[in-house]
Amino acid sequence: MAFFLFLEDCFGYMLLVKRRFQKQEHCPPLITFGFGRPSALHHLHRFNHPAMRYLLFVFILVLIHVTSFSQDRVKPAPLVKDGDGPYTQLIIRGVMLIDGTGAPPIGPTDIVVRGNKIERIQTVGYPGVQINPERRPKLEPGGKELNCEGMYLMPGFVDMHGHIGGSQAPIAEYVFKLWMAHGITSVRDPSAGNGLKWVLDHKALSAENKITAPRIHAYTVFGQGSKAPIITADQARAWVQENAKAGADGIKFFGASPEVMDAALRENKRLGLRSACHHAQLDVARWNVLNSARAGLTSMEHWYGLPEALLKNNTIQNYRPDYNYQNEQHRFSEAGKLWTQAAEPYSEKWNKVMNELLSLDFTLDPTFNIYEASRDLHRARRAEWHEDYTLPTLWAFYQPSKISHGSYWHFWGTEEEVNWKENYRLWMIFVNEYKNRGGRVTAGSDSGFIFQLYGFAYIRELELLREAGFSPLEIIRSATLYGAQALGREKEIGSVEVGKLADFVIVEENPLQNLQVLYGTGAIKLNDNNEVIRVGGVKYTVKDGIVYDAKKLLADVKKIVDEEKAKSGFKLKQPGIN
Ligand SMILES: [Zn+2]
Repeated sequence: MAFFLFLEDCFGYMLLVKRRFQKQEHCPPLITFGFGRPSALHHLHRFNHPAMRYLLFVFILVLIHVTSFSQDRVKPAPLVKDGDGPYTQLIIRGVMLIDGTGAPPIGPTDIVVRGNKIERIQTVGYPGVQINPERRPKLEPGGKELNCEGMYLMPGFVDMHGHIGGSQAPIAEYVFKLWMAHGITSVRDPSAGNGLKWVLDHKALSAENKITAPRIHAYTVFGQGSKAPIITADQARAWVQENAKAGADGIKFFGASPEVMDAALRENKRLGLRSACHHAQLDVARWNVLNSARAGLTSMEHWYGLPEALLKNNTIQNYRPDYNYQNEQHRFSEAGKLWTQAAEPYSEKWNKVMNELLSLDFTLDPTFNIYEASRDLHRARRAEWHEDYTLPTLWAFYQPSKISHGSYWHFWGTEEEVNWKENYRLWMIFVNEYKNRGGRVTAGSDSGFIFQLYGFAYIRELELLREAGFSPLEIIRSATLYGAQALGREKEIGSVEVGKLADFVIVEENPLQNLQVLYGTGAIKLNDNNEVIRVGGVKYTVKDGIVYDAKKLLADVKKIVDEEKAKSGFKLKQPGIN
């Protein structure tokens, strides 16, 4: 999300400012740094007086501090083994299998895993009929059986938009365990906000199962680490090549000049890497989703840039006259009026744009959940998991602020929420129809902003896909196989098929009947004795043949939160209440 823009801005401008300070040269025009976001530091070129230079020096020290914090701020995950396995042979007995391909549930099924791979999938009976033990796969000496009779098993979930914390959640273990506790066994980190080296180190540790974490895919923010602003096609191509050499899996863009975007996207595609783009407002008038898709972008994040490709009476979003992009309430409230400026659903223009995106095999990663507070702030801020699982720093970051990006609740009320409800309605029609015409839509959360918590927000994303019109089986496919396809990893992960890696989500309740059973806090149910109970919550997350007790992972998260609360005496309070 936008917070990384801020940190990246600090980093980029620090380099520029530092060079300028050393050379005492007159500043060149500050035009772009990768994603072309203007900065509050723009005025620094006037600092030529000696006293002002001293102030500048102090300011640089502060920036260096901010920068080193932005690069190392997230505490690395501990080298602790929380799961059991892998086993020479693991037999998961008696599950109802939802394999991720779109096939309907089938069970009872036994699944045999050897090491980290699925070796055999066998249907072993019929509902309501005693299972004949002779017909079941045999346990070998040294093998392990996991009795999951009556439970539901799905492929591990892919979170296509997972930032690994940040200053607001500076503990990798916290983020990883919230994901793993919700069945997320693969994430794409869109920005590599902790620095590419940090992310690649954790990717390797996760691949070796030395830390408890999903499989990681690092998409570096375009321009990250560049010594100079990227303003030409040659510079763009050079950066893309460096990024590939450094081992990144792809690039996350926010927008840039058409020349730079075109060159970078084409070069990245030529190298066989994937890409994601949050089409930020500052560049979207000259480069929208269609431009990106034509140049080779593989997935769009959120929704910005799509209504702009569909505008009907204008060529630029119709902003309020006093609009200022630095004003978060302006940014989000005007965004809430954007879809009504787009061509009507099923109109000629709407169809044309959709069909072109489809022809380019373009992936939509809507991250519906991350904007949900825009249409229902009350719901987002009162979510019951905040009490036990939200870190004090994260809670502080969510609060209304003129400085924190995405904390746009300056005076957010009925009018803004009603606009956003209409925004969602039109957006959801597009996304659902895109799926109906054969398009790939994935599930991504973008947690850590706007009252959305890691793991929990991913399940909310699944619920919002349901609201958009996806059937439960279509949702599971988006969360698994389609995510794997978008990452280019569908040969290894994304469905429960022989030969693929053993990444599973196992839950005691039927997620197709109620997706809320996947929330760590479970779903509310009245039992036969008229007592209110909680059911569900993921039971086991299996990654690479290793079985994790998902509820234990969640308990570890609560412990981390409790410790952080104890340090500061934190009590969770709603905004404006003392
Ligand atoms: Zn993001």
